[in-house]
Amino acid sequence: MNPISPLVFDLSIGRQKPESIRNRSAACPFCDRDNLEKILAEEGSIILLMNKYPTLENTFQTVLIETDNCEDEFSTYSKEHIEKLLRFAIKHWYEMIDSGKYKSVLLFKNYGPFSGGSIHHAHMQIVGLEEQDYTEHVSLNQFEGIEIHKKNSVEFNISTKPRMGFFEFNICMEDLEDLSILTHYLQTATHYVLHHFSANCNSYNIFFYNIEEKIYVKVIPRFATSPLFVGYSIPQVARNIDEVAEKVRNIYFNK
Ligand SMILES: [Zn+2]
Repeated sequence: MNPISPLVFDLSIGRQKPESIRNRSAACPFCDRDNLEKILAEEGSIILLMNKYPTLENTFQTVLIETDNCEDEFSTYSKEHIEKLLRFAIKHWYEMIDSGKYKSVLLFKNYGPFSGGSIHHAHMQIVGLEEQDYTEHVSLNQFEGIEIHKKNSVEFNISTKPRMGFFEFNICMEDLEDLSILTHYLQTATHYVLHHFSANCNSYNIFFYNIEEKIYVKVIPRFATSPLFVGYSIPQVARNIDEVAEKVRNIYFNK
């Protein structure tokens, strides 16, 4: 596998970005809705707009503000809101993919201090890449795992061959008609990560992948990154993933 060419990050723009995850007293730019600029689409409290700080060269960077409540996040949304949010996000992700303007389009989310994010207010990002095809660096076996639950065309599992480790939750969906099932599994994974996984875990990422007409999603609890991954790209998998799968099943699916 050839290494992916790096995205070029403009530090002069990066330095201007506000930070409200560690600095919770900072004013929240996403609560100040009257002053949001370059809005691309809106549905109730959900807004898609251009990223005010486009740090990455040769990309089209958008931000999807998920809610008008600064303290809400995936695991606290109502079923109605999260389904509306996911339909909106995937619709706009597909529109950018179908525009043909990009080699590939990323849809992802950062939550918490170890996620790499800078704004506390819940949001996702849709980013069109002009030069990189992320799918060349993803293999389908990274979505294989110990099944937690399965319904219709959607499988929820925990990775046996994670991209990074140690724990990666996967949701694999063949048919877009089953989006409400994917949404339920996604909310379950984020709720488990923040409330049952580890007392020290306050951060996660969600990554969406569009490969061979299917949607794959990873929910990755975040801690300081393992040096074996940083230095050698060696992923690690926890020995007890089957126990974690069992625990998620018992908490969320045995009622
Ligand atoms: Zn806010």
